Amino acid sequence: MTRISISKLHAYIGQEVTLAGWVHVRRDHGKLIFIDLRDATGIVQMVALPNHADAHAVASLVRSEWVVEVSGLVNKRPEKMVNADEENGDIEIELLGLTVLNEAQTPPFELTNDTSGIDENIRLKYRYLDLRTARMQRNIRTRSAFVSSCRHYLFDNDFVEVETPLLTESTPEGSRDFVVPSRLNAGHFYALPQSPQQYKQLLMTGGMEKYFQIARAVRDEDLRADRGFEHTQVDIEASFVSEEDIRSLVEDMIIKSAESAGKTIRQKPFPRMTYAEAMQTYGGDKFDMRTDEEKEAGILAFAWVVDFPMFEKTEEGTWTFTHNPFSMPKLEHLELLMKGERIDEILAQQYDLVCNGYECGGGSVRAHKPEILRATYKIMGYTDEEIEASVGHMLEAFSYGAPPHGGIALGVERMTMILTGETELREVQAFPMTRGGQTAVMNAPKPLTNKQLDELGIEVKKKK
Ligand code: ASP
Repeated sequence: MTRISISKLHAYIGQEVTLAGWVHVRRDHGKLIFIDLRDATGIVQMVALPNHADAHAVASLVRSEWVVEVSGLVNKRPEKMVNADEENGDIEIELLGLTVLNEAQTPPFELTNDTSGIDENIRLKYRYLDLRTARMQRNIRTRSAFVSSCRHYLFDNDFVEVETPLLTESTPEGSRDFVVPSRLNAGHFYALPQSPQQYKQLLMTGGMEKYFQIARAVRDEDLRADRGFEHTQVDIEASFVSEEDIRSLVEDMIIKSAESAGKTIRQKPFPRMTYAEAMQTYGGDKFDMRTDEEKEAGILAFAWVVDFPMFEKTEEGTWTFTHNPFSMPKLEHLELLMKGERIDEILAQQYDLVCNGYECGGGSVRAHKPEILRATYKIMGYTDEEIEASVGHMLEAFSYGAPPHGGIALGVERMTMILTGETELREVQAFPMTRGGQTAVMNAPKPLTNKQLDELGIEVKKKK
């Protein structure tokens, strides 16, 4: 008999079915043994009666988290046993056969619906057990549904999904790189991408016109509640577009995915605020517009922040970019950029998407002509040689007829946090790192063997 998912059982009332899953809870009343069986789709109560002696004998042996296969009769519960508050509270499986597929040790913590109170190091060491809990299942599935909805939306709008390299060049994008030593070129290093920014612009230069990628971005930054070393972006770039084109595409996509997840959006179209207005009204550019009642009701308050300054002063008094060195200034400020004048007044064609106090996306229309990108780097104090070394390949690419283009990246974890109401990034990643940067379940980072170090031509300095 083929296996039926627990969520489908109502279609089989009065019939014999095969189920498989984990023993969630077992209550032994001697003659009657109740087992709540759990699979990925739900929980159902089963009862072992003494007249089915074999199944009853196995039922008296099994323990929580044992894996079992079941044959049983789907019965409607008698009226007085119906429990409207319980999942599948109107049915019950009468056990006819019970096979143990695997036994289980007692888990190191109780697999309750919500394990957020358990010590995080223990939860992450045994993440595969934590993932069995209702809240983690919901979080990971909400994330998958969000990504799936974006993917469908983008395919429906003629976007092409392209993967860009993971082993790439270290770039000055604002964060520290994770680097990977090269064996073939000992003493040389790749960097893991902080984002596919340059490659997606090269794809536009390559005539792809509409690109997206569910992309990993890796940044060696201080870990925070809403920031990890690794995160995933819905990364988008398109040619011949304005700021408005990208914003309305993304807004439509987000509304569809949030509403299909059952969420209510506070204001549509999303309100828009300039950076200056946001600073004046909220004292920051990641604001939360909700009232306490709206927070209670789980409402999503999206807004666009636009008109960011292109540059800000560093501690040393030089200029650096605020968001992205590849952004295009507002056209009315292009001349200032080209001349390097009144730099503090130059605004960029840059936009951020904020929701409920989080920045959940950001992007810009890009400087697609080499002389504009060069002017940006000049303002940041780069010499011609430094510009060549840093973005020479982009200047060269743009000199072969790069189309005007722009894009955005949306944070998959931040969006999932917003959709689930979670406040820690780690709760919406299957295998996040600990606060100390240690991988879940597996043991990294760890030292290399001497043989590995030799092959890579690396000598490790002893830490003092
Ligand atoms: N690459 C940018 C980031 O990762 C996003 C973008 O401008 O598309 O923040």
